[in-house]
Amino acid sequence: MRIVALRERAAGETRVALTPETAKKFIALGAKVAVEAGAGARAAIPDAAYEEAGASVGTAEAVLKGADIVLGVQAPDVDLLGGAKPGAWVAATFDPFQQRDRVEAYAAAGLEALSMEFMPRITRAQSMDVLSSQANLAGYKAVIAAADQYGRAFPMMMTAAGTVQAARCFVMGVGVAGLQAIATARRLGAQVSATDVRPETAEQIKSLGGKPVFAEGLEASGDGGYAAELSDEQKAAQAELVSGHIAKQDIVITTALIPGRAAPRLVSDDQIATMKPGSVIFDLAVAQGGNVEGSKPDEVVERHGVSIMGFSNTPATLGPDASALFARNLYNFLSAFWDEDAGRPVLDEEIGDAVRLTHGGKVVNERLLR
Ligand code: NAD
Repeated sequence: MRIVALRERAAGETRVALTPETAKKFIALGAKVAVEAGAGARAAIPDAAYEEAGASVGTAEAVLKGADIVLGVQAPDVDLLGGAKPGAWVAATFDPFQQRDRVEAYAAAGLEALSMEFMPRITRAQSMDVLSSQANLAGYKAVIAAADQYGRAFPMMMTAAGTVQAARCFVMGVGVAGLQAIATARRLGAQVSATDVRPETAEQIKSLGGKPVFAEGLEASGDGGYAAELSDEQKAAQAELVSGHIAKQDIVITTALIPGRAAPRLVSDDQIATMKPGSVIFDLAVAQGGNVEGSKPDEVVERHGVSIMGFSNTPATLGPDASALFARNLYNFLSAFWDEDAGRPVLDEEIGDAVRLTHGGKVVNERLLR
């Protein structure tokens, strides 16, 4: 069983899907591990650290030769994978709804694409869930980046020269990223409020010291812990709620996503115009179409004196930590299914069918066949 990882090719990607820690653990399971030279460089992991862990380091071609499992953060282009074994697994994020051509190409090449975004939200898969681990870091970074952009202090400061008021921070969308954003803003001393369309988040907001802000009857819980799309009436109720609240905020962090759809629009230009000059909005959904009108990936857009910002790949701004967690998610996934007799992982139906996109030359995932 040969498990390998390549250097990520996507622009701006700093992460790596295998760390010396997980290389060691795969080797302990009986696998041979190889990694492309330089794969960890942008996550502060030198080649020597992989070698010390027992992995071999070489060119992409040498590493891929005879590979059974290829690990990736973002799935590599199929053309890169020529040397892997027929039917080899590729465990990575595939962005399957947006990158349908790539999924088809994997099927045509006879590779088995395992999409880590499709990990089911069940208790036993929590430790395998890259969306959660990366969203957690992204929620943290959104607040840090917004605080840096903001020209004032976050905590209340009582000084001999007078008092500095605490910043007011509003978090929209209280999933994994939103909860971490609340916690981070609170740690920095901001007054935090938050909203979501799943009513169960109200308790979670309170438990972190935030104030829940919910509109009457605004509830849109979807399958598997995800949100559903709002009706037009609900959208209007939400817009009213936001309009009333947002004008008093200094910092707004938006994190709302709906699986398989463009991110919902939560903040309009008219609403931004009511905010105080110097306020900052961080749009964590900017790469999925954006929650905020006018937001652009990797730019600070000034509208009505308000800075609107967001990164195309927020976890990549924390390469070492994001890699450590991503790599552990992949190890937890493959090791949970390790079959000692077969000397390889054998997936069960519940998780295997959820994450497998392609098999035997075909696209097989029911979410893509609907
Ligand atoms: P997500 O990234 O899909 O969405 C972020 C948040 O935005 C969600 O809370 C969603 O309800 C909210 N949202 C969507 N549309 C909105 C709108 N119009 N207005 C306001 N908010 C809106 O969500 P997520 O972070 O992946 O997590 C969602 C839930 O799933 C959480 O409760 C999380 O704890 C749970 N979860 C469980 C597991 C597991 O058990 N293995 C894994 C991951 C997440």
